Amino acid sequence: MSSSPYPHLLHPLDLGYTRLRNRVIMGSMHTGLEEAPGGLARMAAFFAERARGQAGLIVSGGFAPNAAGRLGLGDHAPGANGFEQHAAVTRAVHAEGGHILLQVLHGGRYSKHADCVAPSAVKSPINSFAPRAMTREEIVETIEDYAKTALAARRVGYDGVEIMGSEGYLLTQFFAPRTNRREDEWGGSYENRARFPLAVVRRTRELCGRDFIIMYRISMLDLVDGGNPWDEIVALAKQMEVAGATLLNTGIGWHEARVPTIMHSVPRGAFAWITQRMKREVAIPVVASNRINNPAQAEALIASGACDLVSLARPFLADPDFVAKAMAGRAAEINTCIACNQACLDRIFVGQVATCMVNPRACREREFAAAPPARAKRLAVVGGGPGGLAFAVTAAEQGHKVTLYEASDRLGGQFNMAMAIPGKEDYRETIRYHAARLDRLGVEVRLNTRPRPEALRQDGVEDVVLATGVVPRRPAIEGIDHPKVLTYVQVLWDRKPVGRRVAIVGAGGVGFDVAEFLTHADGPGDPASPDIDRFLADWGVDRGFALPGALKAEGPRMRSAREIWLLQRKPDRMGATLGKSTGWAIRAALQQKGLQMLAGVGYRRIDDAGLHISVGGEDRTLAVDNVVICAGQESLAAGKAELEAAGLRVHVIGGAREAKELDAMRAIEEAVRLARL
Ligand code: NAP
Ligand code: SF4
Repeated sequence: MSSSPYPHLLHPLDLGYTRLRNRVIMGSMHTGLEEAPGGLARMAAFFAERARGQAGLIVSGGFAPNAAGRLGLGDHAPGANGFEQHAAVTRAVHAEGGHILLQVLHGGRYSKHADCVAPSAVKSPINSFAPRAMTREEIVETIEDYAKTALAARRVGYDGVEIMGSEGYLLTQFFAPRTNRREDEWGGSYENRARFPLAVVRRTRELCGRDFIIMYRISMLDLVDGGNPWDEIVALAKQMEVAGATLLNTGIGWHEARVPTIMHSVPRGAFAWITQRMKREVAIPVVASNRINNPAQAEALIASGACDLVSLARPFLADPDFVAKAMAGRAAEINTCIACNQACLDRIFVGQVATCMVNPRACREREFAAAPPARAKRLAVVGGGPGGLAFAVTAAEQGHKVTLYEASDRLGGQFNMAMAIPGKEDYRETIRYHAARLDRLGVEVRLNTRPRPEALRQDGVEDVVLATGVVPRRPAIEGIDHPKVLTYVQVLWDRKPVGRRVAIVGAGGVGFDVAEFLTHADGPGDPASPDIDRFLADWGVDRGFALPGALKAEGPRMRSAREIWLLQRKPDRMGATLGKSTGWAIRAALQQKGLQMLAGVGYRRIDDAGLHISVGGEDRTLAVDNVVICAGQESLAAGKAELEAAGLRVHVIGGAREAKELDAMRAIEEAVRLARL
């Protein structure tokens, strides 16, 4: 073993016919490149960059084995014409010394089209299309389609396949009584329900030969009623080993499960315990997944015997050089995935190609191809929030001489408030990453400083980037100056004390964040030592696996430290602006904790009695100790005219340019694009 801090993580895995250079798998993730015009060429550049960054094994997004298994709008069935173009993807990865698997995924009743099929005609609660039950002939043909797809993958250079047997897709649908109501040899007993997934792996091995990786992703926790009991999952895993699986990957939760499995509020490594339990049962290498986002954590998981390899998907969007930086002892410079889902899953859900909030280059590697500037300039950045930081780092990487000015005593801007929210602790990692990069790149950082235009001019600065962000909006409500009124900045940044009964004015992302913050008696935790037991108890997940699916009969159990009303004027559904992949869980947790959400509210006044409102034609008084204002923001771009008067070229980005619907994703992307001009 090497003398690196990550000896287990960086140790190769010898499979006999091939050798993976380390234990880090870039897990499968649908990026939208699968079906985008020119997507395979973009995918080749995307994966090549991750292979260059020393990913041990890459797994593609899901490709269906036949037309019925397509997940949605036009994604390829690889038997279709053009599959040979995948050779460009595999060549690009191999040229960088990497290995790559094609993921074969049949959507079953999750497929969003009228021809979707499933073991039984049982509709999914998250799909408007109802499936048709497969005939026995179709089952046999589909097994063959899986194996032929794997063979086609082999012919275009893939080192193997991942067969997707989790997350509630077709193979899971066959295995679980929840969705398999068949009375023939493909349903009923364990043997009958396991027959289809086992036949898929067996036939794939038969057709593709021994020197071909087959990773089976098994649903270790279904997190739905009618899921599989643990003894059946173990039995299937053992039979998969005999059927020819090379590696066993962890799948957690069906897509219709009402337990979050990857978003920010899921603690790091929240499900590694189930992988550890499985590892005792099988001899083939086992892979842990879900919320593994840094090398120290990954190393500890392997060293402790929880798993043999780790699978990270989104962290490779955030930083293609995750492994290379770990190898070089530069882990502090890893741009950490903060599990926000904003630029990856939330974009996929609306039919856009994924990218990453903290790394806008992800999936656009060719668009952002390195083009060194004609000449290095002296630049000043005013504002050390996410936009200013991203600009300073990218511009310095381009060779410019950059000085960063921040008026407060700390870097990070609004992210300092985000990371105060329990469950969003990882936001601090974005600040840590930028600070480490600024240091390495020699960017001068001046805290508690507002630059004087003349001094900048004298220093030879040519361009100034104003990334001064936003200030909270102060709504014109009678009594807004009452001492019980606080802004969200006073709550989250200044940590002013807040009483037990609270009304929140405004229900955008910040209003929901403040509500979550106030439901906790304690502040944020340390993301490196997360309280996994508390998370599992909150969401009703049973480590003891008393019931199939591993859910507790009594369901989630959460309590709030305060009585809270969250208010908005619009009559719309509350939380409509939250992310699609996270909003349901944010709302569900707060509802569990008794949060009262009122839409269509009119604000009348604030006084000693509390907040007076009208709602549904009635006047009400909320007898609260505090009213927290989360009513959006206004731009803060003061000083532009003075800078210009001093002869400086000024660029305004992020919230300072446009506060409406600002989020860090836009601020960072604007910054990175400007810095690369
Ligand atoms: P926001 O999303 O614009 O929400 C502002 C809220 O204040 C709205 O509910 C609005 O609803 C209310 N409001 C606006 N003007 C008001 C007025 N004059 N009087 C009373 N109420 C007023 O702003 P935000 O919550 O500050 O979020 C800012 C940005 O950060 C957003 O783009 C957001 O998506 C992003 N963010 C996202 C997350 C996340 O979890 N994804 C978390 C934090 C922030 P009514 O007008 O109906 O009352
Ligand atoms: Fe991670 Fe957010 Fe980037 Fe997605 S957008 S990869 S969740 S940091």
